[in-house]
Amino acid sequence: MSPLLSLCFAAPLPISPHLTVSASTLRESTPSNLFMTVPSPTPALREFLDRAQEGSPLQSLHRADAAYERLKSPSGSHDNAHFPPLVSEVERVLDRRAGDVADFDVVVAGGTLGVFHALALLRRGWRVALVERGPLKGRSQEWNTSRAELNALLKENILTTAQLEQVIVTECHKPGRIQFANRQTSRSPILVSDILNVGVAPDLLIDIAANSFVQAGGVLLHFSSVTDVNVGVDAVAVTLCKQRFGDGVGALGAGGNGLPGQDTDDTVRVTTRLVVDAMGSYSPIVQQARRGRKPDGVCVVVGSCMKGQWPENESPDIMHSFQPISQQRSTQYFWEAFPVGRDNECRTTYMFAYGPCDERRHSLTETLEDYLNELPAYQGVDVEQMEVKRVLFGAFPSYYKTSPTEIVWDRILPVGDAGGLQSPISFGGFGCCLRHLTRITDALDDALQVTDDSLLKRNQLQNLQWYSPSLSVTGLFNRAMSVQPGQKTAGPWLDDYGINDVLWSNMNAMAALGEQVQRPFLQDVVTAGGLSKTLAAMAIRNPFLVLQMTAFLGLKELLGWSRHYIALVGFATVWPVLQSLQRVAKTTNMLSTKQQFWLDRAAEGVKYGSGADFDSEADP
Ligand SMILES: Cc1cc2nc3c(=O)[nH]c(=O)nc-3n(C[C@H](O)[C@H](O)[C@H](O)COP(=O)(O)OP(=O)(O)OC[C@H]3O[C@@H](n4cnc5c(N)ncnc54)[C@H](O)[C@@H]3O)c2cc1C
Repeated sequence: MSPLLSLCFAAPLPISPHLTVSASTLRESTPSNLFMTVPSPTPALREFLDRAQEGSPLQSLHRADAAYERLKSPSGSHDNAHFPPLVSEVERVLDRRAGDVADFDVVVAGGTLGVFHALALLRRGWRVALVERGPLKGRSQEWNTSRAELNALLKENILTTAQLEQVIVTECHKPGRIQFANRQTSRSPILVSDILNVGVAPDLLIDIAANSFVQAGGVLLHFSSVTDVNVGVDAVAVTLCKQRFGDGVGALGAGGNGLPGQDTDDTVRVTTRLVVDAMGSYSPIVQQARRGRKPDGVCVVVGSCMKGQWPENESPDIMHSFQPISQQRSTQYFWEAFPVGRDNECRTTYMFAYGPCDERRHSLTETLEDYLNELPAYQGVDVEQMEVKRVLFGAFPSYYKTSPTEIVWDRILPVGDAGGLQSPISFGGFGCCLRHLTRITDALDDALQVTDDSLLKRNQLQNLQWYSPSLSVTGLFNRAMSVQPGQKTAGPWLDDYGINDVLWSNMNAMAALGEQVQRPFLQDVVTAGGLSKTLAAMAIRNPFLVLQMTAFLGLKELLGWSRHYIALVGFATVWPVLQSLQRVAKTTNMLSTKQQFWLDRAAEGVKYGSGADFDSEADP
């Protein structure tokens, strides 16, 4: 890596109005060049978007809606005109006779969660480059999480304790609320402590991690888009294209308010032993790997962060639903709310809905209109009187039937949202990254130690993406909260409050079973014991509801799901055995490096796949 290269990729170029649009621009293009029709916002929504103090929400909403339309369309991401293949397999990329070695051990592509993986690997002594198409910058909207999850940042030496306190900009000490209304009664809320009660500032956090990365000798290639990846038997060659930016230079990760740049003619090629793909849910590498397969579901999220006179702003709403299924939209809306900052003046509110990836589902723009209409009833505020800090929206595709993401090529590992490890019922990708950070870093550290790169082969990397029943069982929960287009009730035997009734029964059963059952679930970890007890408690308390739910979901869906449930129980049973085996193998040194690598990954796969990684000791 020459110093010239880092200089040449150090700063953005101004945008020129005469640029030609290239393939990779199309991947992130504006609606007009996608030929997609996206709805125009009503005057009230336009006025709301105009009041936002950050970013260009109207333009960003158009782009997000165009991407969502494309995802839902029947051709979906099959359409190669919009998604030209990025990865190709070639014989060799290095000239061994000239003594060529790869420029890097690891190139991490995508700098939102990617920066944590990059820094963790750098700390283990590897030569790491971090590539980001925009500025290496986190969004200003907080990530909500819990203190226990943040420990991974200390463990991997990404933050010091003092830095961790600096990035935690909100902490609620009053318990959060879970509440689901039904037709007749206003049910009292279930209260939970230390769940999603901490707000981390991504801009501060990523800034600290980025500085540490550069100071520790990492190579930062920002304003550079990955446009070509050639996988050879000896290394990977990654082509980067310098980006040109206009006014909207800002965070480009999920929920960020920046606008992508455009390709220039300025390209550079770097070589590496391994590519870590952290380019998010819409990663071009992952889209190619999925061969255009449609998601199993999409969670649509809209919201805002506003300052003003909030009637209550000392505790979060973990999950709240006060409406029946919308008859007009065939959608069940859920809500979340979080205090922001320490002065109790700002509050984030999200409205979200699960459903299939179907073109009949309404747009993000229409969802935002519903949000504006319903927010006063939810929070008791007059939106006109509030200061709009920022408007938020996103569509989270979920591939829960085939998660985690399959490894398709040697030397490429997807992580973060691209890795498909996040729960299809929460959109807590940051929390999920923290949960897996040490596991992934340990495994890659082991694999990179083997100098012939045999542990970077596709089948070896697949061991880092083991089938996870703990994750797969949640697919049914996603389905149980989804309304199909045209549907007005939760099945033949449940009314339009049916989804709320089931969720209420589920959450109540867990609350009655105690923290050991409730806490892991609320932090996206499903265990065999917790799930079995909850299902049994639900069946005893309300056997009729279970039958009603069966009619809603369908027997086929339930039978498919029972495979994952049986696997979950199996994994939980095998885990202690594997753990003992692993201990014996380590102390006796009886296995070869490859065998030990496999055993360690199998043990981790079973541990995480059974939810045994949830450390109740570490949790308050
Ligand atoms: C409204 C909203 C609220 C959320 N709230 C929470 C929360 O409270 N808690 C939580 O845990 N999670 C939350 N999430 C989810 C969380 O933000 C995501 O899980 C997380 O951002 C995923 O990070 P990522 O790095 O995997 O992908 P992304 O955030 O999508 O980042 C991908 C990165 O890759 C870069 N990139 C893409 N293509 C290229 C390319 N060709 N070349 C180079 N770079 C490229 C992008 O610029 C971007 O920086 C929220 C998401 C949204 C939308």
